[in-house]
Amino acid sequence: MNPQLQLQCNEELKMAKASILFTANRPEMILERGEGMYVWDTNGRQYLDFVGGWAVTCLGHSPAVLQEALSLQAATLVNTSPAFYNKPMLQFAKLLTDHSCYDKVFFASSGAEANESAVKLARKYGALKLGGAYEIVTTTNSFHGRTLAMMSATGKARWELLFAPKVPGFRHVPFNDLAAILDVVNSNTCAIMLELIQGEGGVHEADIEYVRQLRRFCDERGILLIFDEIQTGLGRTGKLFAYEHYGVEADIMTLAKGIGGGFPLSAMLTKTEFDLFEAGDQGGTYSGQPLAMAAGYAVVSEIIQSDLSTQAQEMGDYLLGKLQESASRHGLLHIRGKGLLLAFDLPFSKGAELVAACLQEGLLVNAPGPSTIRLMPALTVTTEEIDEMLSILFKVLSRMQ
Ligand SMILES: *Cc1c(COP(=O)(O)O)cnc(C)c1O
Repeated sequence: MNPQLQLQCNEELKMAKASILFTANRPEMILERGEGMYVWDTNGRQYLDFVGGWAVTCLGHSPAVLQEALSLQAATLVNTSPAFYNKPMLQFAKLLTDHSCYDKVFFASSGAEANESAVKLARKYGALKLGGAYEIVTTTNSFHGRTLAMMSATGKARWELLFAPKVPGFRHVPFNDLAAILDVVNSNTCAIMLELIQGEGGVHEADIEYVRQLRRFCDERGILLIFDEIQTGLGRTGKLFAYEHYGVEADIMTLAKGIGGGFPLSAMLTKTEFDLFEAGDQGGTYSGQPLAMAAGYAVVSEIIQSDLSTQAQEMGDYLLGKLQESASRHGLLHIRGKGLLLAFDLPFSKGAELVAACLQEGLLVNAPGPSTIRLMPALTVTTEEIDEMLSILFKVLSRMQ
């Protein structure tokens, strides 16, 4: 490596550590550029990216459609405030409602905000229709975001005591356990919220029967069902939305991550009968911001027009097959997932070491747990890129065993 570059990079790393508030253990490199499935650091080192910004860069890095939409909209109208309609907002809302079972959209910037909106809407419903019911049932091992309320909604053991006092009104029950839900639902309950595939929890799928029975139960009790499709939405699992695998429609669905292809954007979708907010109940300075709307419209149009859901299914099947073929040789356990949201367990608790070793070999992968590896590349990934990833992964695994 060029020693001049190396020196400059070390200087920049020192600056980063001095000025960026610590919240995460980051590797010793600074990312500078991305294209397709690859990113480059300031030393010019190339990395094959199977993290995709946590299932966000669904069209790969800096896709042409996003560049064009952003530059055109930047030159036309960047910001208006949510007090006004704008053209890309209408276009994008129509695209989402035309291609889902929902009629109405609220836009925000992050997944946590979309989920907060869902919780507010469910509580509004509880206040208006269920005599003030406000409790939301969520599942253990779930992930719903990092605002204070979403940390309370999230069923993560490590977060139980963090940033007390917790926001009240959330009950956690084991995932895929209908009886546990029947146990805690009472006259205070207004909704049940869950991920159809728990993403951060390590890629665990909800059973079809569980979800169908949940729907029936919610109908019987008159309470709302909320699907957090922030990670599973927009083609990731081989369908545009994961609910299509189940044939079950929730009353509210939240989207984020892939929806902006990397531009900060999220949405809460619902049906006309739940159009219950009054002016001022919900909002946000950037809700429906034109630049974000143009980005989302371009990204989601591309996913639909190029049928990237089917492509994700095909590439996911290819990758899943290759992992299964090599499972016994490398001790891979519980290979699982749908489309391009895949994970497997290692025979040892060395997820973080594996991630670090892959990085050294020019590959980005993610370990959501101490022995779990998750793969969530762009929906546009090719078989060649999958083969390249596997050859690095298997090389590193052989060395670690
Ligand atoms: C990432 C994620 C969130 C939180 O989204 P942010 O944009 O980080 O706020 C919520 N739910 C699920 C299922 C997620 O994967």
